[in-house]
Amino acid sequence: MREQIQAHDSILDLIGNTPLIKLKTIAAKMKGNYYAKVEAFNPGHSSKDRIALYIIEQAEKKGILKPGDTIIETTSGNTGFSIAMVSIIKGYKCILAVSSKSSNDKIDMLKTMGAKVYVCPAHVSADDPRSYYEVAKRLHEETEGSVYINQYFNELNIDAHYSSTGPEIWNQTNGKITHLVACSGTGGTISGTARFLKEQNPDIKIIGIDAFGSVLQKYHETREFDSNEIYPYRIEGLGKNLIPTATDFDAIDAFVKVTDESSAHTARELAKTEGLFVGYTSGAAMQGLKQLEEEGEFTDDSNIVVIFPDHGSRYMSKIYSDDWMSEQGFFDAKTEASVGIEYI
Ligand code: PMP
Repeated sequence: MREQIQAHDSILDLIGNTPLIKLKTIAAKMKGNYYAKVEAFNPGHSSKDRIALYIIEQAEKKGILKPGDTIIETTSGNTGFSIAMVSIIKGYKCILAVSSKSSNDKIDMLKTMGAKVYVCPAHVSADDPRSYYEVAKRLHEETEGSVYINQYFNELNIDAHYSSTGPEIWNQTNGKITHLVACSGTGGTISGTARFLKEQNPDIKIIGIDAFGSVLQKYHETREFDSNEIYPYRIEGLGKNLIPTATDFDAIDAFVKVTDESSAHTARELAKTEGLFVGYTSGAAMQGLKQLEEEGEFTDDSNIVVIFPDHGSRYMSKIYSDDWMSEQGFFDAKTEASVGIEYI
């Protein structure tokens, strides 16, 4: 008998079930055991594959989507890539309204994946007609047979992680996880994972990573929206200038804020120490871990899981460019860039 061909039906089969990888060198002097959930192992190289597939399949189940329909979304890049990828396989058109803060690499990738991309100004308020929220809403109204994913205000974003990321982490740690540390953008990742984990063990501590310039931490503490917290920052996909309903603030115990500069350096450190070439927010999450450890949050018995949302290749023109780093004032390119490169 001929051997069966071992092939996946499509790349969508490879979404989820990402590995948990022990952090050794970077956390060697830190109290506790650290495990990274490396979402770059998804076929679209980020955690957003999970929500794209889940939300689209829920719409299919409800009969909202039929072949040839259009999927519309606002996105800093990763969700767009994942939606475009799922759309290709499932036969949908994809329209994306993205922030001008997104890197050119990301925008080019979305175009490559067949999406129609609208680039919208980053520093206008959410209700400005030029904001990516308003542009997406308008396109949804104008396009017949379209579905607006609306990840910031879609409860299914939480459910996607409740049904996948949460159980995976619980099983991978054999229920021994004591802390979950995750970036909060839409809040879907941390909220869905937290809900599942807290149901298994309410003592698991859930800590969100927020950016300086974002309202999330203050809102968590006061339950009030404080526009004074808002100012521009560089990290893409982390923090927010509004309160997303895809964030379950009650499932989160605390937020930690990290700077653009320390997060960029920590992302580079992850590559050099662990061989993990991950994105800017992964650097932010690791930076948050360092700050928490310094504050005495962990003991030797703590089993800390940190989620690294995406792959480093998406940031070549940003944190992994010495020129960009020195333009931001993050380091002196002349002295530091020469380390590791020899020009003949
Ligand atoms: N990191 C990156 C790179 C992202 O694109 C996002 C999503 N905005 C996040 C972290 C945060 O994930 P979530 O939206 O689930 O809170």
